[in-house]
Amino acid sequence: MNKSNSPRIGLHTGIAGGLHNALLKARLLGADTVQIFSRNPRGWKARPLEAEEVEQFKRVREETGVTPVVIHANYLINLAAADEGIREKSVASFREEIERGLTLGADYLVLHPGSARGACESDAIRTCAESLKRACEGLELDSFRILLENTAGQGECIGHRFEHLREISERCPDLNLGVCLDTAHAFTAGYDIRDEDGLSAALDSLDANVKLENVLAVHFNDSKAAYNSRVDRHWHLGQGHIGADALRRVASHPRLAHAAFLLETPVDETCDDACNLEALRSFVRQPDQGEAA
Ligand SMILES: [Zn+2]
Ligand SMILES: [Zn+2]
Repeated sequence: MNKSNSPRIGLHTGIAGGLHNALLKARLLGADTVQIFSRNPRGWKARPLEAEEVEQFKRVREETGVTPVVIHANYLINLAAADEGIREKSVASFREEIERGLTLGADYLVLHPGSARGACESDAIRTCAESLKRACEGLELDSFRILLENTAGQGECIGHRFEHLREISERCPDLNLGVCLDTAHAFTAGYDIRDEDGLSAALDSLDANVKLENVLAVHFNDSKAAYNSRVDRHWHLGQGHIGADALRRVASHPRLAHAAFLLETPVDETCDDACNLEALRSFVRQPDQGEAA
């Protein structure tokens, strides 16, 4: 746990040219932490990790001190799928994600709980938990944590209520699941974090359901989609419907200071990674802290 009163900050970044390049980019931008895909996020088939690239990744990680290292699971995985074929592929693919994470020495693996598609929500939650248990069967996770990410609730996705995350976690007590809070998803799913009371209420609900100490990562995004729209559109910090004041309250909130804050914001002509990271840095920086080491 982070002892200082401001969180570690970083971003999701690409792995073009090698996994270690994500660490180098994070370092170049002055980030403390990073999120990556360990493979192509939109294909079932992953190229196996070579011993050499694993060794290089670990060495560069040591050199850069970037931590925690967070992996986001690929987008095809749907552990809640009612369709058996998709579910089986998803379990195998998620197991592979875990194995890759363990091989790389990553800290967290972020997972979307999945989509009901034809089944009711409570069935989907049960299916997700069962699939998770199967994917992890026989693996030693040790300190590696799987984090369930809250969703915007688009389509028939589960995970848009903190209660869903609780139920999945409670159904797999041995997995010690953690949580990744996505600010944009929470907002469009109906948690109004724009004012202080709304943020407090959302954090209270999160704490009551999954305990804030288990919220190990925050996907720190503004939203291009409106409140309660159930639409998932990340946007530049301070330029979306959540807004700078509200985001500053989240980033400087003492109840979240132990979590790793990660941007998943777009890169375009208005603002890029450096620009959004600078905004995040200004939000977490306490006025009396000066330059943090
Ligand atoms: Zn995600
Ligand atoms: Zn996210």
